Amino acid sequence: MTDQATVRTPMDDLVQPFQIEASRLRGRMVRLGPELDDILNRHAYPEPVARFLAETLALAVLLSSMLKYEGVFTLQTKGDGPISLMVADVTSVGDLRAYAQFDEEALRKAGDDVDIAPAPALLGKGYIAFTVDQGADTDRYQGIVELSGKTLADCVQHYFRQSEQIDTGVTVGVGRDEAGGWRAGAIMMQRLPPDQGPAAVLASDTEDDWRRAMVMLTSVTTEELLNPELGASTLLYRLFHEDGVRVWPPQALRFGCRCSRERVETMLASLPREEVQDLKVDGVVEVVCQFCSTAYRFDDAELERVYGGV
Ligand SMILES: [Zn+2]
Repeated sequence: MTDQATVRTPMDDLVQPFQIEASRLRGRMVRLGPELDDILNRHAYPEPVARFLAETLALAVLLSSMLKYEGVFTLQTKGDGPISLMVADVTSVGDLRAYAQFDEEALRKAGDDVDIAPAPALLGKGYIAFTVDQGADTDRYQGIVELSGKTLADCVQHYFRQSEQIDTGVTVGVGRDEAGGWRAGAIMMQRLPPDQGPAAVLASDTEDDWRRAMVMLTSVTTEELLNPELGASTLLYRLFHEDGVRVWPPQALRFGCRCSRERVETMLASLPREEVQDLKVDGVVEVVCQFCSTAYRFDDAELERVYGGV
């Protein structure tokens, strides 16, 4: 395990890369605290929606940190269940944001099924998609897979098995701290394809390594995943020290939304003015960012300016 670097690095709201020494197993641990609480508190979601969105965000961070990209990674679920849409964004510099769309009536009816199999109960039939947007002139990488499994983590594992042929193990925990603040923690491990590991490892029996790692992964408790007093690297060492675990410096994560008044103005200007006028309530057009709930208001004088008037 390294070293002094972890001492001065963040203890919370971070993603921690690691690898099991001399094996083809690599992993990430994400820990979300105050920043997650901030993101969820911008919305007034019912408990199951907030909980599920927290899980989605934790998974989005894990998946994004497995990729090399400059730009925006988006995880999206779409389904015919009570939560019709969830979107979680992670930028390559660690800015997070997320929102959900749901039907309150359908959510109430979902009842106890949510505890037994949250993914089918809340999302219904649909798909989960990953997109990497690296700017206007680059390809958008997209992976998409049908929702299947009891949890979102199951769906993600299913995706890697089916689409990427990469063995993947994921464990996720979401809860609240004593003060009521939302917290999430998750660990994801992957077994790299045979041509990507250190040469010396190829001859050895990695099946055993993998099985042992999965046993350790399922032994992690939600309390361990969420506890801010228990450092990510300390927990990883506790789990994998027998096989040798190497941790790299964690990346700090924070809430960050890319909306701005300027962007909203550009969007409004692209719409027919009459349509926008029709949106007026009490003489003001209000545009609310879905991600962060910031409200941008435009009165007549400002609309005049947006549409190139005096
Ligand atoms: Zn925003």
